[in-house]
Amino acid sequence: MTIGILGGGQLGYMLALAGYPLDFHFRFLDPSPQAPVGRIAPRVTAEYTDFEALEKFAHGLALATYEFENVPVEAALFLQKQVPVYPPPQALEAAQDRLSEKALFRKLGIATTDFSAVKSAAELNAAVTKLGLPAVLKTRRMGYDGKGQWVLSTLEDVERAGKEMPAAPLILEKFVNFSRELSILAVRGRTGETAFYPLVENHHRGGILRLSVAPAPHLTPSLQREAQEAARRVLEDLNYVGVLAIELFESDGRLLANEMAPRVHNSGHWSIEGAVTSQFENHLRAVAGLPLGDTRALGQSAMLNLIGEIPDSTELLTVPDAHLHLYGKSSRPGRKVGHLTLRADSASRLAELVARLPAFFRRQEFCLAELEGKVR
Ligand code: AMP
Repeated sequence: MTIGILGGGQLGYMLALAGYPLDFHFRFLDPSPQAPVGRIAPRVTAEYTDFEALEKFAHGLALATYEFENVPVEAALFLQKQVPVYPPPQALEAAQDRLSEKALFRKLGIATTDFSAVKSAAELNAAVTKLGLPAVLKTRRMGYDGKGQWVLSTLEDVERAGKEMPAAPLILEKFVNFSRELSILAVRGRTGETAFYPLVENHHRGGILRLSVAPAPHLTPSLQREAQEAARRVLEDLNYVGVLAIELFESDGRLLANEMAPRVHNSGHWSIEGAVTSQFENHLRAVAGLPLGDTRALGQSAMLNLIGEIPDSTELLTVPDAHLHLYGKSSRPGRKVGHLTLRADSASRLAELVARLPAFFRRQEFCLAELEGKVR
């Protein structure tokens, strides 16, 4: 069976690596000739909206899926005329616009922070009056890794934002004083079967995910239930097939949904070594109509993103239970070039592994201090 994947970044790369043992074949479409999957699978280099290229790409595929949430919806709809496309294009559509995403959460009774649509300086002022400060102004579309976001703390910030705001639809959100950031990864098969990974605790620096701890420390059954219930509502409402990630804030013991990704997710990379079945394998099982795999965690994992720089792997690989994944990308500031997962049978063993990490990881952006605080 050949599966077509729109997007050829590291998520596609890891999907293919998980799929080869199941005898899947892959074909990718990505606008960049340097897409990481070029190393391991055939790839069509074309714009997502090049319908001629899409038609050729679709020829002989059993189904198509995506690893990038900003694939234009019309590309998914076009492909759907030729092959089944999972997750459904309406999931892409909902997730591409922060306003429709939050409106969907609200419709499904999933708590979010208060928000307002903003298109002009006058609407910004009205939204600030309604929501109060501090608040976060975000572009509705194409924002990722903290790009296209401004925290507004004072009326001067509001005035400046009113003058400098981009000519694009925006959303103003009430600032959440969260105690931590979490994410839930859920998967739904073609027959409606669902499975959920344990909640993961995430730490960001400069808007980019740096560290995920899985399962989230101090995870209670009621918190897990609350997150699963939210994810289940989204899965069912969208008649979803595949892996879905929802990012959440924990604030005063409550969960507030921030955003969702209709694809495998960076905060699920730990599951390659840290869960019975990885998010990548489960996504493929789901879209291919196979039974879902067990989502249980195997002990305690920590996933550290490698951003912009690749460490010396010889030194790193002397750390037992350190699993290095390099995506075959050239180094560039702010670019995710790989990740490292540490997996241990207990939090105390994980602490021992953290202590053995080379000096490279002692820098602030790896959030090791946060991790040490969690596993002690
Ligand atoms: P997002 O692109 O929505 O995931 O936002 C990137 C990061 O900005 C999040 O991981 C949070 O750390 C922070 N952030 C986003 N929205 C809010 C909010 N409403 N209140 C506080 N922090 C936020």
